[in-house]
Amino acid sequence: MTAGGADDSGADARGHVGRHRVLAAWRQLLQLWFPTGCAACGVRDEICRGLCAICAAALRQRVFVHREALASGLVVVSATDYHSVVQRCITAVKDAGRVDAVPALVPLLRVGLLALHRAGVRDCVLVPVPSQRRAVAKRGFQHVELLVQRAVPDAPLVSVLGYRRRVRDQSGLGRAERARNVAGAMVAMRPLAGMRCVLVDDVSTTGASLVEAERALRSAGAEVCAAVVIARVAKRFSSAHSAPTTSQLSRT
Ligand SMILES: [Zn+2]
Repeated sequence: MTAGGADDSGADARGHVGRHRVLAAWRQLLQLWFPTGCAACGVRDEICRGLCAICAAALRQRVFVHREALASGLVVVSATDYHSVVQRCITAVKDAGRVDAVPALVPLLRVGLLALHRAGVRDCVLVPVPSQRRAVAKRGFQHVELLVQRAVPDAPLVSVLGYRRRVRDQSGLGRAERARNVAGAMVAMRPLAGMRCVLVDDVSTTGASLVEAERALRSAGAEVCAAVVIARVAKRFSSAHSAPTTSQLSRT
């Protein structure tokens, strides 16, 4: 999505959005014509969906559907832990604009969405947590929105969140700093009275971005039923994990 009227990027980025988008489009075309190697390990042999066979298998085999409730009460479902292959794959999409690696992540997002559906969370629109405009301009696309579109092409996707101020990169920040960094930063671009929403993001570390997105949606009148992420950064393992199954991927 684009951030509409929200200002999250600064004038310099706004002035270069067009050029960045053109460069991003060319980069994506080049990726399709000249694959640059496995998005996770870099090897150049037998790449399929952005990954080599070994990394693709690692992604399939590490499915840990997990449910947890954040302090706000928001239930977050994740499809896997933030292991090295999924981390590198998400980073390749997010930071290097590797569109070719998006299909590798799509089954994991489907697993999370299916788990929510089976838990009775239905009749909701999907709301992606947005990246800031500067990152989108550099990358060329909203990666979470693209993941949702590829995972569930017919899903009611409502890209309604934006930023009303710039926030720092969350990496390297502690739990309290992350919460402070994003507090009050998001805004819904229009009234959402009566809308039932499921938030979607790529990774949940402390849940700070999800909590802020939930606050922004509720401020606009929406009901936030749950959130789904591809991976969660697990501080510890608990009995809440279900056993990893590869069949969960093949079913979706
Ligand atoms: Zn690999």
